[in-house]
Amino acid sequence: MIHSTDLPDIRKVCIQTLEDPMLQKNKVGMDVLRLDKIHTVISGNKWFKLRYYLMDADRQGKKGIITFGGAYSNHLVATAYACKQAGLSSIGIIRAEEPPSYSPTLKDSLSYGMNLQFYSRLDYKNQQLILQLQQSYPDFLLIEEGGRGQLGIKGAEEILHIQSSHPYTHIMCAVGTGTMMIGIINTALSIQQIIGIPVLKIKNNSQEIADYVNHNTSSKNFSLQHDFHFGGYAKKNDELIRFMNNLYHEHSIPTDFVYTGKLFYGAMKLVEKGFFETRTNILVIHSGGLQGNRSLPEGMLHF
Ligand SMILES: *Cc1c(COP(=O)(O)O)cnc(C)c1O
Repeated sequence: MIHSTDLPDIRKVCIQTLEDPMLQKNKVGMDVLRLDKIHTVISGNKWFKLRYYLMDADRQGKKGIITFGGAYSNHLVATAYACKQAGLSSIGIIRAEEPPSYSPTLKDSLSYGMNLQFYSRLDYKNQQLILQLQQSYPDFLLIEEGGRGQLGIKGAEEILHIQSSHPYTHIMCAVGTGTMMIGIINTALSIQQIIGIPVLKIKNNSQEIADYVNHNTSSKNFSLQHDFHFGGYAKKNDELIRFMNNLYHEHSIPTDFVYTGKLFYGAMKLVEKGFFETRTNILVIHSGGLQGNRSLPEGMLHF
C-alpha cells in the first residue's frame, strides 16, 4: 500500500543531549528523543499512532479514513497527508461551526484532499454521530480523535525501540489523550518512571486520562504532573512563549505551544525545584506538532 516516498523516515530520529547549567547544577541529565525530525507534516507521535490504522484500512480494503479533530489538530492534518500518500480518501469531522476563514491546519488538510465536515460541539459529543457516520460511510475506517485506541497504542509502543532508552531513569512526554504515554509505559523497563505532562486542564479530564491509561497498561510506574497546562488546551502566556524562544536559542530545539512547549517547561521546572534526585537521567520525548505554531501571530516565535 505504502507506495509513496514522502512518508516519515524513522531513521531521522536522533537523541540530543542538553548541555545546560541548570541541569548540571542539579546533577540531572536530560536527553531529547527528536521524533519531530521524521517529517514536517506527519510529525512526531502522529505517525506512530496512525501507522497501524493505515495498514488496517488497507487490509480491510477500505476506501478511506474518517476521523475527528479541532481546527488546529496535528492529528487531522497528519491523517489527511498520510491518506493522500497512501492513496486513501479522508474525511475530517471538525468540532466547530464552519469558520469564516480556515486555519492553516484546515487549509492544508483540505489541500491534501480531505473532505471537511463541521459539527457544533454538541453534535460532536454525540455517540449517535459516530453510528451515523459509520452507516453513511461503510467504506471508511473510523479513527477516534487523536488516534486514540488499540492500534494507536500499538504504534506508540514502537517509539522507545527506535533508539536505546535503557540508560534513562525517567521518560517524560506530553499527554493529550494519553495514547502515546500508554505505548511508552508498556515498553519501558519496570525500573523506569514515566512522567506525563497533560496539556489539558485537569478537573474531569484528569480522571478520564488516568482511567484510560490504567485500563491499557498493567504497569504502575507512571505519574501525571498537572501543573503545566497553562490554563488548558492550546492556552498560553508570555512566560511559555519566552521559555520556548529561550529553549530554541540555547539548544536549537523548536517546540509547539500546545504540547511540547509545556512538556519542556514542565521538565525544566521540575528539575529546578528539586523534584528529581541527583544522577537522574531523563529522556524527554519531542513528539513533534510544530505545524500548530502557525496559528500564532507572526514574529512571536523566533524560529
Ligand atoms: C497529539 C500530540 C500529543 C498527544 O498525544 P496523545 O497520544 O493524544 O496523548 C503530544 N504531542 C504532540 C506534538 C501531539 O501532536
